[in-house]
Parts: sequence; C-alpha cells; structure tokens
Amino acid sequence: MSEGSGSLYSDWKKLYPRYQSGFFRNLRWSLILLWLGIYYILPFIRWERPGNLPNQAVLFDLPERKFYIFDLVVWPQEIFLLALLLIAAALGLFFITALAGRVFCGYMCFQTVWTDLFLQVERWFEGNRKRRIKLDQSPWNLDKVLRKLGKHVTWLLIGLATAGVFVFYFADAPTLLWGFLTGDAPFAAWMTLLFLTLTTYLMAGFAREQVCIYMCPYARFQGAMFDDDTIIVAYHPELGEPRQVNRRKRLTAREPVGLCIDCRECVTVCPTGIDIRNGQQYECITCGSCIDACNSVKDKLHLDNELIRYTSLREMRGEKTHWFRFRILAYGTLLLVFLGGIVGYFFQRSMVELNVVHHRQPTFISLSDGGVQNNFTIRVLNMSGSRQTYRLEVSELPGASLKVAAVDAVDQAGHPLLTLEPGEVAPYTVYLKQEARHVQPGSQEMTFRLAALDPKGGESLYHSVFMRR
Ligand code: SF4
Ligand code: SF4
Repeated sequence: MSEGSGSLYSDWKKLYPRYQSGFFRNLRWSLILLWLGIYYILPFIRWERPGNLPNQAVLFDLPERKFYIFDLVVWPQEIFLLALLLIAAALGLFFITALAGRVFCGYMCFQTVWTDLFLQVERWFEGNRKRRIKLDQSPWNLDKVLRKLGKHVTWLLIGLATAGVFVFYFADAPTLLWGFLTGDAPFAAWMTLLFLTLTTYLMAGFAREQVCIYMCPYARFQGAMFDDDTIIVAYHPELGEPRQVNRRKRLTAREPVGLCIDCRECVTVCPTGIDIRNGQQYECITCGSCIDACNSVKDKLHLDNELIRYTSLREMRGEKTHWFRFRILAYGTLLLVFLGGIVGYFFQRSMVELNVVHHRQPTFISLSDGGVQNNFTIRVLNMSGSRQTYRLEVSELPGASLKVAAVDAVDQAGHPLLTLEPGEVAPYTVYLKQEARHVQPGSQEMTFRLAALDPKGGESLYHSVFMRR
C-alpha cells in the first residue's frame, strides 16, 4: 500500500533520466537507428511481381488474407504458419531471456525504442536532467510554453509518422499516402492512424517506464526463465561497499572503504528509476546505461574495476558462467525445430493447390454404353509467381477419361490442360468417365493429379472416390 495516500497503488513519480554517453548508449543508438530505419522504409520498397500481384515488398493484405514478403507469398490456407511463427517468437524470447535476461527489453522492444526517441526530443527542447527538473518546477512563462509546445508537437508528429507507416504495411503505401494527403483514405485507415498516433504519444511520451514495469506481461514472468548463469546487469558490492560517504571520517577510523563514491550517477540515468546497487530487480531492462554512467565515474577517478557490469550471479560468486545448460539447450533446440519446420515447409510446399468436391446429386450416372460417369467441382489455385499451365489426370482408375467443362485444351495423351494467371483461383466442372469393360460393382478409391508443365509450377494430389452402382 502506498505510504500516506492509503491507495493500493504506489504514487507515480515523474522520472528525469539523465543522458549518458558511452559504449552501451552508442550500441543502443545504432540498434534504434536500425529498427526505426527498417520500420519506416520497408513499406516503401517496391518489388516487381508478375500479373496483377501487388508490387510492394512487404504487404499484409488482410481483405485477401495474403501476406507478401519479398518473393514469399503466404496464402490464406497457410495461416497456420502464423501460429508457428508466434510460437517460434515466444521460444526466441525465452531463449534470449535465459541467456541474457531482459536484453530484448533494453535493445529491441519497440516501447524502449520509441521511448528513447521521445526522450531525445525532450532533451532537445528542455535540456538534460537538471534543466528539465528546473523547467518543470519553474512558473509558466513564454519560454516554458514554447519548449513544452515544441516537444509535444514533435512527439505528435513522430506518433503520426509511426501510425502512418504502420497502416502502410496493410495497403499499397503510395496509394494510401496519396489518400491521406487528399482526404480520400478509407475510414478504417483514418481511425487506425488516429488510434496509433495517440497510443504512441501516450505510451512513449507519458507511460514510458510504467509500461515496462506494470503493463508488460513479459516483465512479470521473465523471472521464471532466469537462473544463476543468466547474464544480468549487476553491481559488485564486494568492490563498491562500504560506500565512500564521509570518506575522510572512514579513512581516519581506518575502516575498509569501497570504490563506490555514492554519486548516484547510476541512478539518475536509469530509465526505470531503480538503484541497481540494491541488487537484481525485475524493473531492470538490462539497458546498460548505469554501466556507462559508473564507467565514466571510474574513468574520472582512474579506477581499474567496473563496479557495475554485465555478469551472472555465478560469476559474482567467483565461479565461471555455464553457457551450455539444460534450459538454453532446450529453448534453443525447440526454437531451431520450429524455425526449421517453417523454412522446410517453404522449401517443399507445392505452388499449386487442388481441392475436389464430388457432386452428390446424382453420385454417379449410368451411361447408355454401359460406362459410369461421376461429376466433380475442382478448385485450382496458382500459388506460383508466374502464369502456369497444368495437366489434369486421374490414377488408380482403369479405363478412365476426363473432360473439363469449357476447356478444350488437351495434351497429346488427351489430358485436359488448365491455364491460370499467378495468384488466380479458378473452379472447374470435371466429368470423369469409366469405360464399360472396366466397371466393377461398388465404389473405388482414385487420385486426381494436377501437375504444372513447368516444373517450378508444382503439383498437387487429391484422393477421392469414384462411385458406381
Ligand atoms: S538498472 Fe541499469 S541496466 Fe537496469 S534499467 Fe536501470 S540503467 Fe538500465
Ligand atoms: S555510479 Fe558507480 S560510483 Fe556512482 S553511485 Fe553508482 S555505483 Fe557508486
């Protein structure tokens, strides 16, 4: 319970993280630029595709339920891949957490990336930590209004750009951009734009560390994946303690003195507002800012040892970190199995799909010459990136002949030839006849085979039943 307020929730204290340059800060800037670059540029990359397929490199076409990722097209019937991908992503997160704690949060999470960006804007308009605190405590005047206004307008513009680009992943980007500029964009696009602009503005501008500490479910269960060998950011009390508060007094008293000078630089830079010297805490997103801060102090004081560093609990006890351990191997193996399954599927998948429905009324027709005929509706989907011609045949049914309604093209052996454009799906009515001399009592299993003349077009089999009297 929050002290004094009587509330079950602790009071929110605004944080003013100080900017600290250093190795980990530079590493984070590099990754932020990489993630933002990918995010903002990807929808505008054009990718030539044949026929009437869209020429946007990455497009999630929800109405058609097709995902285009460069040369890869994921069709509606392959949506199970999304489930596999989500499982693989979860396993990847477990793997990286067991290995290096919340390093995903510190270096890759979009909440951290956008919060860092918003913090940088805040610094441009309001200055570093001390100036921001002073500005917030000062009375309103023109300078304060202009600085706050500039910051919030820039935040909203970044939110708008973020939301706009997100929508471009789901429609042709240049067309939709023109739609936004001329006011012709669909209502759903406007609503998504508004919603995402506001959520980006609120989450990265105001909620910030609250998302990492209270809202993100990952923060709550990540502890279950930690062990003594997980890499964490840790303060070394055996080097730092006792802190050098009243150093003169301690030296006079000949008491042992640690290297920590209690400057609190590591606390003021922390984006989640914790003091890493209090030990491992779930709020720590493993960003490394406190390491940069303490290292700059260490350099100024010409000390040799790092008081805060990436390490493991085992290493802190003076032992060696075990990298190959059961949970790492288990998560890693499962991750490889799922990723291998997804990649393997794409390598062996057929680029044509065949579906067959047997006509039930009537199930068979007795012909005047003693033969028997069954009628079917087949549905062919050309999943390749080019125009394809397919040969349709049946096997395991002696004396069979095929005819496709409204299709005259046949090969030399008399098999019907069906031609489809890339991405086209077409239904056909198929008449399958068995000669009188082969007709036997009862039904018989047989197989439709649809094979492209071009080997890259793939083939598909469909097992069905030929009905007889
Ligand atoms: S304690 Fe250090 S590593 Fe953890 S969140 Fe704070 S600054 Fe980042
Ligand atoms: S930055 Fe280093 S020296 Fe300063 S308080 Fe933190 S741990 Fe101690």
